Amino acid sequence: ENVVNRIAAGEIVQRPANALKELIENSLDAHATNIIITVKAGGLKYLQIQDNGTGIRSDSLDIVCERFTTSKLREYEDLQAINTYGFRGEALASISHIAHLTILTKTQHDKCAYKASYENGKLKGPVKACAGNNGTQITVEDLFFNVIARKKALRSPNEEYTHIMEVVGGYAIHNSHVGFHLKKFGENTDIKTPIKSSVVENVRIIHGNSIARELLEIELTDPTLKLSLHGYVTNVNYSHKKGTMLLFINHRLVDSLSIRKAVDSVYATYLPKNAHSFVYLSLELDPRNVDVNVHPTKHEVQFLYEEQIIDRIKTVIENKLLSCNS
Ligand code: ADP
Ligand code: MG
Repeated sequence: ENVVNRIAAGEIVQRPANALKELIENSLDAHATNIIITVKAGGLKYLQIQDNGTGIRSDSLDIVCERFTTSKLREYEDLQAINTYGFRGEALASISHIAHLTILTKTQHDKCAYKASYENGKLKGPVKACAGNNGTQITVEDLFFNVIARKKALRSPNEEYTHIMEVVGGYAIHNSHVGFHLKKFGENTDIKTPIKSSVVENVRIIHGNSIARELLEIELTDPTLKLSLHGYVTNVNYSHKKGTMLLFINHRLVDSLSIRKAVDSVYATYLPKNAHSFVYLSLELDPRNVDVNVHPTKHEVQFLYEEQIIDRIKTVIENKLLSCNS
C-alpha cells in the first residue's frame, strides 16, 4: 500500500517547487501575514516554511498527514464555492510519503508549541511539547529519498531553486499584503517583501526597477461571464531571457496554454518581434466555472467560456498597449 501511495505522491509532487506551492497555500489559508522559506540544495535536501498563521490544534496533529484530512471542506457542495486553496487534503499526506516531514506548530490558545514527525501519512513517534512561536513551521527533508525515478528525472539543485524562486516571487507579488522571505540556508536573502506592500512594489523588489516603472495597470469586469480581471503588463522589451507571465485564477498560481498563447499573440502584434513581456494577471471567475478538481499534476487549469474570456483579456491588453503607443 505504501508503494502505491508513494508512486501517487511522486506524481502529485513532481519537484520541490510543487511541494512548496502547496505549503505556501496552506500558510495563506491559515491567514499568515509573514512567510519565511529556507532551502538547501534546491529544496531536495531541505525545505522549510515558517508562518505566523493560526497554527494547527495539537489534537489534530495525529491525523493531518492522513490522506483526505482537510479542515477546509465540510460538505460536498463546498466544492462548488471553494474559497480556500486547499480542499483535497492531499498535500501533507503526499509529502509525508516521499520525504521526512516535521511539523512544529502553536495556536494562540496553546501555552507551548508541539512538534511531530511523519512517515507514510502517519505520526512517527509521539507529539512533543516544545518552545515555539504562534504559527506553523513545516520542514521537508530528503524529498524523493525513496523515489529513485523521480530523483533521476530532476535537474540540478540550481534549476530547482529557480523554480522555487518563481513560485515564491509569484505568490509574493499576488499576495502583497503578506511578507515573503526566501533564502538558501546560511546564505543571504534572495527575496524579501514587506508586510503590507503593493503589487508594483513587489515587482520592483523581485524583477527590478526597469520592469516595475513600466507597469501598466489593466482592469476588467464582465458580469455576464462572471469574470473580473486585475493585472499589470509592460510595454517594453526588457532584458530577461524570456518573458514572465504570472497567471492567478481565483488566487491560485496556474498555467493556461491558451491564455499564454493569446497574450503572446498580442505582444507579437504590438511590440517588435521577440519582445519580452512581463504580464501579471489575476483572474477571478465563478468557482463553479473553473475546474479546480483536475489532477494536481495538471498545472493546466480548465474553465468554462474560455474563448470569450480569452477574447476579453486580449482586448483589454491590446487597448492598453495601443493607448500608450499612439
Ligand atoms: P488541504 O490544504 O487540502 O486541507 P493539506 O494536506 O494541504 O490539505 O493540509 C491538511 C490540513 O493541515 C489542512 O486542512 C489544515 O487544517 C492543516 N494545515 C496544513 N498546513 C497548515 C498551516 N501552515 N497552518 C495551519 N494549518 C495547516
Ligand atoms: Mg493544502
